[in-house]
Amino acid sequence: MLKIGEIGWIEKDKPKCGPSDAIIKPLAIAPCTSDVHTVWEGAIGQRHNMILGHEAVGIVNEVGREVKDFKPGDRVIVPAITPDWGSEAAQRGFPSHSGVALGGWKFSNFKDGVFGEYFHVNLADSNLALLPDKIPLEAAVMLPDMLSTGFMGAENAKIEIGFSVAVLGIGPVGLSSIAGAKLKGAGRIFGVGTRPKLIKIAKKYGATDIINYKKGNTSEQIMDATEGEGVDAVIVAGGGPDILIDALNIAKPGAKISNINYFGRGIGEGDIIPISRSGWGFGMAQKDIVTGLCPGGRLRMERLAQIVIHGRMDPSLMASHVFKGFDHLEKALLLMKDKPQDLIKPVVLLDG
Ligand code: NAD
Ligand code: ZN
Repeated sequence: MLKIGEIGWIEKDKPKCGPSDAIIKPLAIAPCTSDVHTVWEGAIGQRHNMILGHEAVGIVNEVGREVKDFKPGDRVIVPAITPDWGSEAAQRGFPSHSGVALGGWKFSNFKDGVFGEYFHVNLADSNLALLPDKIPLEAAVMLPDMLSTGFMGAENAKIEIGFSVAVLGIGPVGLSSIAGAKLKGAGRIFGVGTRPKLIKIAKKYGATDIINYKKGNTSEQIMDATEGEGVDAVIVAGGGPDILIDALNIAKPGAKISNINYFGRGIGEGDIIPISRSGWGFGMAQKDIVTGLCPGGRLRMERLAQIVIHGRMDPSLMASHVFKGFDHLEKALLLMKDKPQDLIKPVVLLDG
């Protein structure tokens, strides 16, 4: 990112490794819709000459003298969020917000991201996980953010066995939420989206019903399908500033509305997001809007790897466009911005 609205290539020095840190050479990287919010919507404010990207698996190039569990040559999963585990927020149970709200999100926010020949990881022992050989790179690169965030959507929705769940938005994050809802034991799962290729994966991951939000009002369609009852949990994984209106309208009293959508400024003017007065039971229906930033850290990545190794979910289905070599990165990022019909997630594989 050269500045808001402008991308390009830039030469930088190799990052320096602190005593508890690591330097990683990426093996697979993936652009995120959040990178699009950062560059083309200026969602986190102005940044000059910042390396983008926060989704990577790679090979350890260098470790600091205090790092115990990793050495050069290890293949690792790098979480998108790399908290300061000793921070007050982490000790309170909110590591993604270490230092400041969203403060665990360091790559391509407070420091250079992973779309470089080398990148820096703080607290290597707590923020890296070994990449099991069994997981192919295009599947592995979905763990740092897509699976971690999408599954968090389902976890925060407090899904119980047999719950009905609606997932609004079926990009790669929403698709991962559908898979997460199924893993959590949901009964009926509504996927709200339109693109045929994504609908196919949504069904594979566990969606039982598809709602086309372009062919009618989402709330009405889901209320009709549930005979006016609504759903036990809602996960918001896409949509514009008005999307919480649908979410509240279709939530049963007591339901969690689990938001993982990034309300970047580009998707709506101003600072206010509407919610529906009656849908929210005039503020009293015990419909809770819960939010979260992608969980990071080593244990999270190790657990996600278990899901993949034991065949609970195949994230490689989301790697719709796989390229080889840094030269293709710009194309991959632009695909994420333009979202052609058949795009789910572009991945760029590198030699390491
Ligand atoms: P995506 O753009 O690929 O998918 C979102 C989909 O929602 C799109 O296909 C879009 O057409 C669709 N949509 C638009 N309006 C809709 C509506 N009214 N109802 C239903 N669907 C609608 O994006 P993604 O990569 O899947 O990411 C989803 C969101 O999650 C983005 O805002 C991204 O920045 C955010 N995100 C958040 C975190 C986090 O930590 N919370 C992490 C990663 C990504
Ligand atoms: Zn992301």
